[in-house]
Amino acid sequence: MRIVVKVGTSTLTHGTGRINIRRIEKLCKILSDIKNAGNELILVSSGAIGMGVGKLNMETKPEDMPTKQAAAAIGQCELMYLYDKLFREYNHIVAQMLITGLDFSNEESHRNFQSTLNRLLELNAIPIINENDTIATQEISVGDNDTMGAIVAINAGADLLIILSDIDGLYTDDPHDNPDAQLIDTVFSITPEIANLAGNKGSELATGGMITKIHAAEMSMEAGIDMIIANGSHPELLYKILDGEKVGTKFIGRKKA
Ligand code: GLU
Repeated sequence: MRIVVKVGTSTLTHGTGRINIRRIEKLCKILSDIKNAGNELILVSSGAIGMGVGKLNMETKPEDMPTKQAAAAIGQCELMYLYDKLFREYNHIVAQMLITGLDFSNEESHRNFQSTLNRLLELNAIPIINENDTIATQEISVGDNDTMGAIVAINAGADLLIILSDIDGLYTDDPHDNPDAQLIDTVFSITPEIANLAGNKGSELATGGMITKIHAAEMSMEAGIDMIIANGSHPELLYKILDGEKVGTKFIGRKKA
């Protein structure tokens, strides 16, 4: 299987912005094993701004663009250093790809992106993709990595997109406010009712929330790709997903005629 795994900031860092060492070590170990089993893996990883904020000892995520972009530049190094170090322990090669929304609208960049991605997979490397936050302003950015995950999955012709977040999946109501909220295990189409469940809350350091995940689901489903939202606090869920067990919320890709 060709699998795109999107990892959110909340999975990689503590609320302080400092690295969640136990979590990231576990995640890289499991992803390495999944790759060893013969799957092709592409990571879309957030965490650059969060890690930069942690490294700079800032109290909160900055609001102004230059500081955000500076934090991303600092955090992106840290992020790739960690991935390189941890995947190397299991004999895997990582590759950094930083892109913006503009790269998908420019025909030549788009083609180059696809051919580099394919070549990296042929070379058995793990492409690790993030938005090029240091230059991406609102007009040219994809804006959030859930959407980026869907764009990458579509461009890579992936079989599955897994979004690891700080929530188990899509609920019938906001589980932070309503203890009776129920997890929805399968979604066959994004009806207005489903879209309405998205709310707009995300965690402090992250960019997206359920809205961007529903948007990503819509794009993936349309392209015939299944998407799963699962809780990144438990990376071992990835094994269960690949074993075909019910985990989180699965959005079923439209079957092609
Ligand atoms: N590119 C951002 C970062 O690495 C994250 C965007 C997102 O979380 O959606 O911090």
